[in-house]
Amino acid sequence: MTTLHLYNTYSRKTEEFRSIHDKIVGLYVCGPTVYGPPHLGHVRGPVVFDVLRRYFLHLGYKVRHVRNITDVGHIVGDADDGEDKLQKQAALEQIQPMEVAQIYTLSYNEMIRQMNVLPPSIEPLASGHIIEQIEMIESIIKAGFAYEVHGSVYFDVIGYSKNHEYGKLSGRVLDDLMAGAGNESRELEGQDEKRNANDFALWKKATPEHIMQWSSPWGKGYPGWHIECSAMSRKYLGDTFDIHGGGMDLLFPHHTGEIAQSTACTGHNPANYWMHHNMITINGQKMAKSLNNGIQVTELFSGNHPLLEQAYSPMTLRFFILMAHYRGTLDFSNEALKAAEKGLQRLFNAAELAKNLVASDSSDFDIKSIETSIYASLNDDLNTPQAIAQLFEAARITNVVNDGKGKINAEGIQLLQHIFSEILTNILGIIPESNTSNNALDGVMQMLLNMRKQAKEEKNYALSDQIRNQLSELGFEIKDGKDGSSWSLV
Ligand SMILES: [Zn+2]
Repeated sequence: MTTLHLYNTYSRKTEEFRSIHDKIVGLYVCGPTVYGPPHLGHVRGPVVFDVLRRYFLHLGYKVRHVRNITDVGHIVGDADDGEDKLQKQAALEQIQPMEVAQIYTLSYNEMIRQMNVLPPSIEPLASGHIIEQIEMIESIIKAGFAYEVHGSVYFDVIGYSKNHEYGKLSGRVLDDLMAGAGNESRELEGQDEKRNANDFALWKKATPEHIMQWSSPWGKGYPGWHIECSAMSRKYLGDTFDIHGGGMDLLFPHHTGEIAQSTACTGHNPANYWMHHNMITINGQKMAKSLNNGIQVTELFSGNHPLLEQAYSPMTLRFFILMAHYRGTLDFSNEALKAAEKGLQRLFNAAELAKNLVASDSSDFDIKSIETSIYASLNDDLNTPQAIAQLFEAARITNVVNDGKGKINAEGIQLLQHIFSEILTNILGIIPESNTSNNALDGVMQMLLNMRKQAKEEKNYALSDQIRNQLSELGFEIKDGKDGSSWSLV
């Protein structure tokens, strides 16, 4: 394909991408609920949508990428009632709910920074947009698609469904929903307030002990989960924007609710393209508490988990994610991760070798066709595994030429170099680990510690103390142990 095509979950078709505004893309991606450390389920979306964004940049678009932080603590099990996740974690850790949100927002962002994910253009907090959410709820009520009961406001799914296809995005028919609804949630508090079990909360009345609550026209309470994304995407990207993304687990009820809310306000679906990445599995099984196979991202980076045979670097994880198409499941196993690590090294080695190849007058290889097929793959609904297969072909040719077993001309060498720098580095965002700032910092610190060690050996204590004291002033703690010195940031 010569132009970018994306699979639109809403139409269930692969469609040519056309932006609303010339060379500008508005992209909204649902961000994390920040009540616990990031696990492997959290990393796929950021990497997939980062590559999409980078590809748009490559194609000459400006991208406004909005990714929210759900810090209002919507509710366990994503039902309308139950415990507030943030409040529950705050009680466990004996801190404020907002401290919980802050801690895990920072750790989420640090984790994806290590994976070379570009930060979003705007990262709105749900708690910072209560006014916008209240205004949107008011206009949904005004449009006749929501009702208030005892200080809570619910979306009227039946009323909405008379003229709209409520379940279109998820492929669920309302009759099926009606049959299944309420079976497991009927016991929950608040169900009796709803006209129909499928109705979902736009606003919930808060009990006095509920810490996170705000004033509203309906009394003290807090917003439902879906309304935050409708309100914040509209605020920063407008009534209609280009792409709304997220995981397949968000199809229902979250994105279904979003579409209904926005349509109730503006009369139409807010996004032209809905993109969903598939879920992850671990050794072929769903990640679940009962299976004890939940792996935190930091555990993957340190190797400190019973299921892991070794540590895997952030770039290995990024590459591993891109080796699968985003709409297929991604299965984590030691074998697959080790293969990704090896493959990544092969590409890095080839990218280095390509810088110093010697040109011949003629060429045995058609590098242009490799480049063309890489772009064709990316244009075909962001088919990164196919693009990566072509990168391996470029690496194979590089090695053949480097070993003197094949010839390539100057133009071919330039194209090979371009393939590695533009596609591997800029679009797929794969950079050598030593280029990530953490590793660079570690390298500089080791250099300073070695200089200090040498100064000590030369009995130049003035210099060795000076190094330690100045580092200490900068916030680094140096610990001298039997096996040498180590450092940490305090
Ligand atoms: Zn969302």
